[in-house]
Amino acid sequence: MVSIWESEQFRAQPDLVVIGGGIVGLFTALLYKREHPGQLVMVLERGAHPSGASVKNAGFACFGSPSELLADLDNEGEEAMLARVEERWKGLLELRSELGDAAIGFEPTGGHEIYPSHTHGYTAVADRFNALNDSLRPIFGEAVFAWDDAAISRFGLANVGHLVRTRLEGPLDSGRLMAALLRRTLAEGVLFRPLTEVASIEPSPGHVSVRTKDGQGIRAAMVAICTNGYTGQLLPELPVEPARGQVLKTSPIPGLRLRGTFHYGEGFYYFRDHAGGVLLGGGRDLDITGERTTEDGTTPLIQETLEALLRTVILPGQPFKIERRWSGIMGMGPSKSPIVERLSERVVVAVRLGGMGVAIGIRVARRAVALLRQ
Ligand SMILES: Cc1cc2nc3c(=O)[nH]c(=O)nc-3n(C[C@H](O)[C@H](O)[C@H](O)COP(=O)(O)OP(=O)(O)OC[C@H]3O[C@@H](n4cnc5c(N)ncnc54)[C@H](O)[C@@H]3O)c2cc1C
Repeated sequence: MVSIWESEQFRAQPDLVVIGGGIVGLFTALLYKREHPGQLVMVLERGAHPSGASVKNAGFACFGSPSELLADLDNEGEEAMLARVEERWKGLLELRSELGDAAIGFEPTGGHEIYPSHTHGYTAVADRFNALNDSLRPIFGEAVFAWDDAAISRFGLANVGHLVRTRLEGPLDSGRLMAALLRRTLAEGVLFRPLTEVASIEPSPGHVSVRTKDGQGIRAAMVAICTNGYTGQLLPELPVEPARGQVLKTSPIPGLRLRGTFHYGEGFYYFRDHAGGVLLGGGRDLDITGERTTEDGTTPLIQETLEALLRTVILPGQPFKIERRWSGIMGMGPSKSPIVERLSERVVVAVRLGGMGVAIGIRVARRAVALLRQ
């Protein structure tokens, strides 16, 4: 028995249902609602709160390390590499201006890439370093990367031969970012339904039928699917594969000198300071097949490798305790570009953000809203 009040306010047919309450889903809902203030916009999230990669990540506000950008240049050509960097840089600026640096805990302490001495990884970057800076200059208006080998000892690192720094990156607090985004989304009138897992969607003439795992049916005028690494469960035909990332965090280290974000091992390892300790993730390259999963979890192989990196490179000679370990699921595929497409007249998908959702999440959402508008 549904009252008139329930049926008018809580059971009305939504104009837009967004499936997935991560950074992309929440920005899609928020930006769409701003354009259509009179419409009912509802986010369905299977967790008790946003619970995908957006709240499991490392919190790097970054646009790509030199080794990654040079690999992209070789694989896809200069135009595609530059377009991706520009998208990430614009996304970071838009994110920071939308929510504010204080609210997202952004720290302008710099981004870094480190290289063991005289390795192939180092020479591959050193040989083309100036040319890379030259091609990026139109985006940043300056030479964005600089060698800063003196910082290696200042940060207390060992077994590192060379270090590149950019002043334009830095760490942020992903929990505060997502909490601020959720607060903003709710304040602007979007409905957020936690603990609501969507089992299927079926486009019908005039609407889309959304069926939840617990058997509810919702008729929506439009649907946006923002389920990233979990997309295969709803849309198995889309080329999106889950890719698990494992992370650990140490207790506070007395006198920790590390500041900023750091890439290592051609992007497969990443670490930063957080709350006086070190947050370190990566190691997927050790077991690409095993980490192709939507199951959360950690494995001894990867966790032991991360701990060895702490002992030999990041905290040499310093005792440390691991206070937390976790994992998150990314969405990846044959291309590094996200999928932002209209699947049918009333269904749009915005997924496969790889390891860059902090930077591009808001821009992917804008593109999804543009498709919903058409
Ligand atoms: C360990 C790790 C480290 C990372 N580090 C960084 C970093 O430092 N910088 C960076 O830019 N990016 C990083 N990333 C990537 C970044 O976190 C993602 O690209 C971004 O969070 C993707 O956002 P999203 O909204 O698309 O997906 P998610 O945040 O995964 O959101 C998808 C949401 O959909 C929900 N959902 C799924 N299926 C259903 C369903 N059927 N019904 C209802 N709800 C559903 C999920 O619960 C989830 O909340 C990292 C990722 C990981 C895993």
